[in-house]
Amino acid sequence: MELGDSLQYCKGVGPKKSTALARLGLTTVYDLLTYYPRAYEDQSTLTPIAELQAGEPATIAGVIVSVAEKSSARGMTILTAMLQDGSGFLSVTWFNQAFLKQKLQPGRKVFVTGKPSYAYGGRGALCMAQLTSFEILDRETDASDYCGILPVYASTAMLNQKFFRNLLRQILADGPSIAEVLPSAVRERYQLMDRFAAFQMIHFPADVSRLQAARRRLAFEELYLIQCGLMLLKKKNQEQEQGIRHLLNSQLVQTVYEALPFRLTHDQERTWQEIQTDMEKELPMRRLVQGDVGSGKTVLALLALVKTVENGYQGALMAPTEILARQHYENFTAQLSSTQIRVGFLSGHLTKKQHENILQKIARQEVDIVIGTHALIQESVGFAALGLVVTDEQHRFGIAQRAELEKKGGRAPDVLVMTATPIPRTMTLTVYGDLDVSRIEELPPGRRPIRTFVRTTARRRLIYEFVKKELLAGRQAYVVCPLIEASEEMPLPSAEEIYTELSEGVFHGIPCGLVHGRLKTREKERTMQQFHEGKIKLLVATTVIEVGVDVPNASIMVVENAERFGLAQLHQLRGRIGRGPYASYCILVTSGRTPAARQRLAILEHTASGFLLAEEDLKLRGPGQFFGLMQHGLGDLKIANVLTDTDILLQARRAAMETMESAADLHYVREVLSLQYKQHFLHITDT
Ligand code: ADP
Ligand code: MG
Repeated sequence: MELGDSLQYCKGVGPKKSTALARLGLTTVYDLLTYYPRAYEDQSTLTPIAELQAGEPATIAGVIVSVAEKSSARGMTILTAMLQDGSGFLSVTWFNQAFLKQKLQPGRKVFVTGKPSYAYGGRGALCMAQLTSFEILDRETDASDYCGILPVYASTAMLNQKFFRNLLRQILADGPSIAEVLPSAVRERYQLMDRFAAFQMIHFPADVSRLQAARRRLAFEELYLIQCGLMLLKKKNQEQEQGIRHLLNSQLVQTVYEALPFRLTHDQERTWQEIQTDMEKELPMRRLVQGDVGSGKTVLALLALVKTVENGYQGALMAPTEILARQHYENFTAQLSSTQIRVGFLSGHLTKKQHENILQKIARQEVDIVIGTHALIQESVGFAALGLVVTDEQHRFGIAQRAELEKKGGRAPDVLVMTATPIPRTMTLTVYGDLDVSRIEELPPGRRPIRTFVRTTARRRLIYEFVKKELLAGRQAYVVCPLIEASEEMPLPSAEEIYTELSEGVFHGIPCGLVHGRLKTREKERTMQQFHEGKIKLLVATTVIEVGVDVPNASIMVVENAERFGLAQLHQLRGRIGRGPYASYCILVTSGRTPAARQRLAILEHTASGFLLAEEDLKLRGPGQFFGLMQHGLGDLKIANVLTDTDILLQARRAAMETMESAADLHYVREVLSLQYKQHFLHITDT
């Protein structure tokens, strides 16, 4: 049996089951082998039959002594097996499972979990008729090798635990040809179990220590291969791609720099130096700038883009939302108004004419800096001389998209990636291993901390009275809601409903606005513009305003149904306020029915660090969620845990670096990657 073989030909998998498997993303033997148990049931704590108590659930292991079959009056089959374990005898009954008869043969070992009770309404001996699970070992299985730690899979109605266990047993017993993927030097050096054994032990552990060793081996493999892939990617970029050598700064950059309305903070300055150094090298820049919301990343993009323009190239800035792209566009246009630099805008919502017009300008280099949404990476966009690509809020884009835009130049353009997502170090290494990282830790001076409060819906009236007072004092406010419109499935007030409630109620007479993703671009823009200009005082919005929006006069945010959001996301949202000199308030409103939800939100009351919050989120919601959000493009890690496997990650990383030095191992790993991670690393394996 080969790893690539289709599951549909395995014994016990008919067309229906194979469709159900495919729905879980499982089509090949390899898919199933890497469908790792989500938990284990430890049946190794066995109760001797003699110590069973009526009504107390327990697991016993016994050998079948005899089996009897009866039919009930209504035609139900009743199988009763007598088990013994050396301490006593127990009769176990299966109803209507006649097919078990051939497996229930004297001499076989059986594990049974259930609730013992007295037979004959309490007058007979202790027996088990209500089984929660059971496991009849095959004749071939060596019972002494079986400790009773059973895998528990994420199952469905059609595919139950037993189905998975049997299928995996069958596959592993067939001895599939599972080729090793780690170079032997790595395996020896880091004392890793061989691959076949690891698959066996992860599904059917002989004991806890071998289970741990198997897990370590498989997590190592996963992280190691990704690391190798990323390192090869980086190496290839460096070797093969001719980068652009930008020259030292001269007049233009200097002018823009000096005209900035503020002085760069120490961290911004350092990052700017790093960016310049990268740009001035022949190698293409690949830099990630990580800085909390409001730390001032945009200005770095501006300076870098001016630098590329001064060198005779074009620059592109890609933002994840239309609103943010617009805002950058307005912002840059204003800041560059005293220069000759031509700034253009591109999104999917332009008229056909506007669209053609801007494409033409890009192709003829009649525009120097293009700001836009992911419309920028469409095939029809051809730059005359692309020198720098900046992606803002990178976590919203996958690696694939990033690569698309990078391909657009003739020579490899420099790449700058900016994100506010405070990616834990382990994850930076895992997912962004091909990038150099600059961190901006300090916020610009003069920021007043945002005061955050968690409040129940019972206080809404008071909250909005307070908001009104602030508005009358000249400030502006956001009200964020999880839903756009009323929905039957989720009985939560929607943005539309809340807008109506507020604008016709407590804020009657005060200009209010509504933005959400389903409005026409034109409408959204008009509303945002009016909010910017202070004509709208209160903005009811969905998370469309999550990233980037910058209105310093807005000092209050109310989040309705805050429990619907992740902590990192709320932090991102609250980054919209506290941008000016005013005292700022973020009020998280929750129905507060579950104390756990309130406790989770309360973390925001006393934590201002996005970094800590992301780690909390990761702990509370799991990396799956986080990764889902990150769209890192590598597929979810199947076994490694980015939060807790730091040690394994660091070892895997070291091993990957060693591999880069060894020609033979490198060749080997390349082959492995081209088979296993083809879709992700295609471009490194085609050499
Ligand atoms: P983010 O890192 O979240 O993208 P922005 O670049 O939008 O942050 O900056 C947030 C606000 O801080 C903007 O209004 C910007 O003009 C301002 N700002 C940036 N750098 C500084 C600085 N060094 N001193 C003062 N204000 C700054
Ligand atoms: Mg930003």
